[in-house]
Amino acid sequence: MQKRILIVEDEPAIRDMVAFALRKAGLDAVHAGDARAAQEAIMEKVPDLILLDWMLPGQSGLDLARRLRREDLTREIPIIMLTARGEENDRVSGLESGVDDYVVKPFSARELVARIKAVMRRSQAEDERGSVELGELRIDGAAHRVFANDTPVQIGPTEYRLLHFFMTHPERVYSRGQLLDHVWGGNVYVEERTVDVHIRRLRKTLEPHRLDAMVQTVRGAGYRFSTSY
Ligand code: CA
Repeated sequence: MQKRILIVEDEPAIRDMVAFALRKAGLDAVHAGDARAAQEAIMEKVPDLILLDWMLPGQSGLDLARRLRREDLTREIPIIMLTARGEENDRVSGLESGVDDYVVKPFSARELVARIKAVMRRSQAEDERGSVELGELRIDGAAHRVFANDTPVQIGPTEYRLLHFFMTHPERVYSRGQLLDHVWGGNVYVEERTVDVHIRRLRKTLEPHRLDAMVQTVRGAGYRFSTSY
């Protein structure tokens, strides 16, 4: 089945360029000019991925991303954020809000399509992952849910992948580069500091369950997930 991509972008030139490139790559492209139109498009048919511009009239792309991550219907939809060059803080806030990847303007259609395909491959691989139990944590792979002592854990899509990797590879130290390869699929565009952002988010996710100490920093080496803490 053709994958449906929702483009949320108010600039017609960029929107048209992106839609053209996506259709050429065999993807179905729909468009919304602001957050409200995006919500309507999602209600009509849930897309397989959302390309979200940061600067939108009315509600910003970041606020929309946060809202999408809070709602059950949209929590799992991969989001790629489009940001302006040099807005380093934007990128970090974007990743912290649960966005899967970001692309800096101006970008080439080819780069964008490659990134979309990488993100979709990742989310597909994730669906095929199984259930795992470690200490007080349990991942139900089919339901795509995490439980801490049988209490549901609210978790973002990247943190879910990271936790799944850690739980299937505990008690070993992984460098940022190794985590990028395993969890992000060796996407060369993602910077190593992205790992730190998601590690922080994962700790925050586990904090209410008093399990954040399982995510351990190994100075000068990377991170380890351990049941001894
Ligand atoms: Ca814009």
